[in-house]
Amino acid sequence: TKTQVTVLGLGAMGAALASALLAAGHPVTVWNRSKRPVPQGAVRASTVSAAIEASPVVLACLLDHRSVYDALGPSAAALRGKALVNVTSGTPGHARSLAAWALEREIDYLDGGIMAVPPMIGGPGAFVLYSGSEAVFDAYRPVLDTLADSRFLGADPGMASLQDIALLSAMYGQFMGILHAFALVGSAGVPATEFAPMLSGWLTAMGGFVAEAASQIDKRDYSIDVVSNLAMQAAGYPHLLEAAVEQGVSPALLAPLEPLLNQRLADGHGAEAITGVIELLGEQK
Ligand code: NDP
Repeated sequence: TKTQVTVLGLGAMGAALASALLAAGHPVTVWNRSKRPVPQGAVRASTVSAAIEASPVVLACLLDHRSVYDALGPSAAALRGKALVNVTSGTPGHARSLAAWALEREIDYLDGGIMAVPPMIGGPGAFVLYSGSEAVFDAYRPVLDTLADSRFLGADPGMASLQDIALLSAMYGQFMGILHAFALVGSAGVPATEFAPMLSGWLTAMGGFVAEAASQIDKRDYSIDVVSNLAMQAAGYPHLLEAAVEQGVSPALLAPLEPLLNQRLADGHGAEAITGVIELLGEQK
């Protein structure tokens, strides 16, 4: 049996979600603040309340946290007793505050973090992290699974956002390194496309760091399986910054790590792995 679903927001992502639901045979009601093309087969509701009333489950995919309150605030009464699945990006704090807002109004809240771009929705490789109401996740799992691979991360509504942002943070760190590397070789006239295969291979070879660091971090022991000790890396790191300056490339993307390496060295951790830098980033619970 197919479930009637309401999708709020017909931006690039909301439209992709609605289309995937329609392709899987679910009847879909959509609402968008301004007039936008309605995916074929969907029914447009002219007000948020009418859109909500059409379905037991409401999927919100709006620009940001503020826009969710703007859209849902005046129609909260219509959501009472329904399931709200909010896949709008935000912080863990945003998710927790929306969950509290929903709880006060007897709305079942599930937060989601989409780990895909719109063309990937409904296809392989896309996944969505969820947290909050497990009842909602279980009840609407078949609906959610038509969008992407669904992963439930527990009752803390902020957890999906937290892990979404952790993945993005790692991605941006990698983007920074990649852009810096291209700028560096580019400063000597090496085309990016020529350097790219070697860079790809190198990043793949370094991928083992994730598992290696994870086991050191969980044991809080940075002296195990030390491949390259921190003292050696702290001695070499300034070369990265000097080389950039020599080449007329900004060291801005690389500079923040240097003082952390020096701090660990000064604290007597030179023989340990670089992983211990995590101790300077915040309390690990
Ligand atoms: P778009 O910019 O394409 O669409 C934004 C949507 O939000 C539109 O429907 C817009 O309505 C609506 N909106 C903006 N402000 C308000 C408001 N104050 N009140 C009501 N509606 C409002 O964004 P996407 O569809 O790409 O993204 C939607 C969400 O999905 C974002 O949170 C984004 O971070 C997340 N996401 C997007 C990904 C992507 O690659 N696109 C990847 C992963 C997550 P209107 O048409 O009237 O302007």
